[in-house]
Amino acid sequence: MGKVNRQEILDVLKGYDKENITIATLGSHTSLHILKGAKKEGFKTAVVCEKGREVPYKRFKVADEYIIVDKFSDIVNDDVQEKLRAMNSIVVPHGSFVAYAGLDRIEDDFNVPMFGNRDILRWESERDLERKLMIESNIRIPRKFTDPSEIDRTVMIKFPGARGGRGYFVASTPEEFHQKIDSMLKREWIGEEDVENAHIEEYVSGCNYCIHYFYSALNDEVELMGMDSRYESNIDGLTRIPAKDQLDVALDPSYVITGNHPVVMRESLLSQVFEIGDNLVEGAKKLVAPGMSGPFCMQSLCTDDLEIVVFEMSARIDGGTNTFMDSSPYSYLLFGENMSMGRRIAREIKNGIESDRLDILIT
Ligand code: AMP
Repeated sequence: MGKVNRQEILDVLKGYDKENITIATLGSHTSLHILKGAKKEGFKTAVVCEKGREVPYKRFKVADEYIIVDKFSDIVNDDVQEKLRAMNSIVVPHGSFVAYAGLDRIEDDFNVPMFGNRDILRWESERDLERKLMIESNIRIPRKFTDPSEIDRTVMIKFPGARGGRGYFVASTPEEFHQKIDSMLKREWIGEEDVENAHIEEYVSGCNYCIHYFYSALNDEVELMGMDSRYESNIDGLTRIPAKDQLDVALDPSYVITGNHPVVMRESLLSQVFEIGDNLVEGAKKLVAPGMSGPFCMQSLCTDDLEIVVFEMSARIDGGTNTFMDSSPYSYLLFGENMSMGRRIAREIKNGIESDRLDILIT
């Protein structure tokens, strides 16, 4: 638990003019529809923007206020926090916010009310905590191998840190593992310390579905908001080369996300989808008080046995929600109006203000 304590944040919130709340975020990742959605729900909006990166926010006209900083990480500086509080801001965290601000600063120094549970952000960032949360939640995840000598099937090898899947590789025997590690060390794609920290897991052969949920703490309900699949470089380009030629080209696969496709699942799989979301919310309640709140995403592979295996999760809004800035088939089913994830967050904050329960949505 960080040094920013709940009471301090509640005190800041108490001082806010509830008729005049600003929804603010860092200008990157999913901020376009976070801000657009906030405006649709009648809020003022502010974007904290790195100098030179204002163009999309100006051209799409989603922000009322701009706080221009030299670098993204300045969002945690005292003067920026001061400006945000002066605007009665509630900050919506997203992947870039977490990456640039840093977990330590968010937990220890960021004294601005944030939407959702700030303590859960560490649980999605650290692989061991993430696995613990999924296991506690009874979610099917890829089997983990603790030592290369145990490799008895096709496995995927991952390295620590967010490097967009660069250097991940697939192997089927201990010999193949060591052979590929040696060649990657020679190329300096990885270092000796990476080898010790290599994470080995069962390779799941299936189709990719990233499932976007919203847990409403006000209604105690898990909502299915949308789904996307990833468009990754260079693997999605490599697969356009015929298999026989793939063997001849000296290219190694990488899994750097460059975009997202909207997707829907077979309707018969949706019961499994709701079960996964409900289970995660139950697990999070036990491990990370006060539990999940707001958007989360389960990144999965669906096998030909129609089993959904979750290989990664986001405990905040995920980039794939950009595939439904207006609506997804699922958010349409639920709301019957244009509902992006950004707008859903703003709707929850609005409902919280109207029912005088904003405190349970904020940390
Ligand atoms: P990650 O960095 O964990 O998000 O993984 C990057 C990409 O690697 C994913 O989008 C998947 O295409 C693929 N991937 C990750 N884990 C597995 C796995 N256990 N089995 C098969 N493919 C995987």
